[in-house]
Amino acid sequence: MPTTADVLIAGGGVIGTAIAWQAARKGLDVILVDPKAGDAASLVAAGMLAPASESLFGEQELLRLNLLAVRRFPRFAAELEDETGHGTGLRREGTLAVAYDPDDYAALARLTEFRRSAGLLADELDARACRTLEPFLAPDVRGGFLFAGDGSVDNRRYVAALGEAAHAAGVRTIRGRVAEIRDRHARLDDGTPVSAERIVIAAGCWSGGIKGLQVPVRPVKGQLLRLRHPHGVAPVLSHTIRALVRGTDVYLVPRADGELVVGATQEERGPDQTVTAGAVHELLHHAMDVLPVTSELVLAETCAGLRPGTPDNGPIVGHADTEGVILATGHYRNGILMSAVTADAVVALLTGRPPAPEWAPFSPERFARQP
Ligand SMILES: Cc1cc2nc3c(=O)[nH]c(=O)nc-3n(C[C@H](O)[C@H](O)[C@H](O)COP(=O)(O)OP(=O)(O)OC[C@H]3O[C@@H](n4cnc5c(N)ncnc54)[C@H](O)[C@@H]3O)c2cc1C
Repeated sequence: MPTTADVLIAGGGVIGTAIAWQAARKGLDVILVDPKAGDAASLVAAGMLAPASESLFGEQELLRLNLLAVRRFPRFAAELEDETGHGTGLRREGTLAVAYDPDDYAALARLTEFRRSAGLLADELDARACRTLEPFLAPDVRGGFLFAGDGSVDNRRYVAALGEAAHAAGVRTIRGRVAEIRDRHARLDDGTPVSAERIVIAAGCWSGGIKGLQVPVRPVKGQLLRLRHPHGVAPVLSHTIRALVRGTDVYLVPRADGELVVGATQEERGPDQTVTAGAVHELLHHAMDVLPVTSELVLAETCAGLRPGTPDNGPIVGHADTEGVILATGHYRNGILMSAVTADAVVALLTGRPPAPEWAPFSPERFARQP
C-alpha cells in the first residue's frame, strides 16, 4: 500500500520546508520528501533580503514581488521564532552599496537612478559618510548609496527553525528523491510509492529532473566564503556591503555572531558544486579591496551552491500542466527572500484561494505558451 497524504512536497530546502510548515498549520496532512544530501542552495546562500540592492534593469515585475517578500518576511520570521524559540538572525540595517573607482561609481549611480525611477529609496553618501557608517571601509571607496529597506537573515538558522516548526506542526519527512510523478502518485528513487491529493515540486534546480514533468530550471553555480573573527566577537560591519570593484560585484554580509559571508560567483557550469582556487582568490581579493580588515579574519568555510535559474530569472509558482501538481521553484537569486511569500502563495492554491496579484507574471503557463 502506498503512503498517503493530503500534500506531498518534493524538496526540503527553504521553499519546500516553508510551504510544509504553513500547509500543516492550515490543518493539511503533509509529507516532505528530501534526500537530505546537504547540497541545498538554501544552506549555501548569503541570506540577503535585498530587493532594492539586487534589482536590475528590466526586472520590474520581479522587483514588485521582491518588495512584497521583504515586507512579509519579518512577521513570518517572528512567528517562526515564537513557535520554535530559536532566533533567525534577522537584521534590518539595510545595504550600503559602494563603488571602488570612478567607473564603478558611474555604473552604480546609473543603476541607482534606475532603482529610484522604480520607486526605491536610496540615500547618496560621499566617501566620508560611508566610512562614518562603516569605519573599516577602505579609504579608496569613492562613495555609495544606502538602501535602508534591505535586510538579511542567517539562512542556516532560519532553515533549521523552519524544519523544527514543520516537524512540530505534524509534517512527516521521508528521506529519498521523488523520481517520477503520475496520476497523483509519486515514485521515490528506491521504488517507494507515495500518493497525495496534491503534489508540490520544490526541488530547487533539480525540479526539472523528475520524470513526468516539464520544469525549465537549470543550475547556476555560486561560490561563497564564510569568514570569522578569530575571537568570535562582534561583526566588523553593521550593514551588508555590496561593492562594485573594478566592474565586479562582491557582497559582504555580517552576522551577529561575528561571521562575515563573502559572495558570490555566478557560473553556468551545470550541476558542478566544486570550489575553485580562482573563485576563492577573486572573492577574497575584491573583499580586501573594499574592507582590508578581512585579511585578519579566519577563512572558516568555502562552499558552492546551485541556484535554480529560469529563462527569465523569475520564479515558477502555480498549477502545472499535470493534474494535481503545483510548482514552487526557480527562485534563482532570491529564494530565501521569497520563501515566506511563496509559502503564502502555495497554501492559497492548496486551499482554493488566489495568490497575491504580484504572483501573476510568474505562473508556469508563461513557459507553456512559448514555442
Ligand atoms: C552562492 C549563493 C548565494 C545566494 N544568496 C542568496 C541571498 O542572499 N538571498 C536569497 O534570497 N537567495 C540567495 N540565494 C538563492 C537561494 O539560495 C535559492 O533561491 C533558494 O535556496 C532555493 O531554495 P529551494 O528550496 O528552491 O532549493 P534548494 O535549497 O536547492 O533545495 C532543494 C532541495 O530539494 C532536494 N531535492 C533535489 N531533488 C529532489 C527530488 N527529486 N526529490 C525530493 N527532493 C529533492 C535537495 O536535496 C534540496 O534539499 C543564493 C544562492 C547561492 C548559490
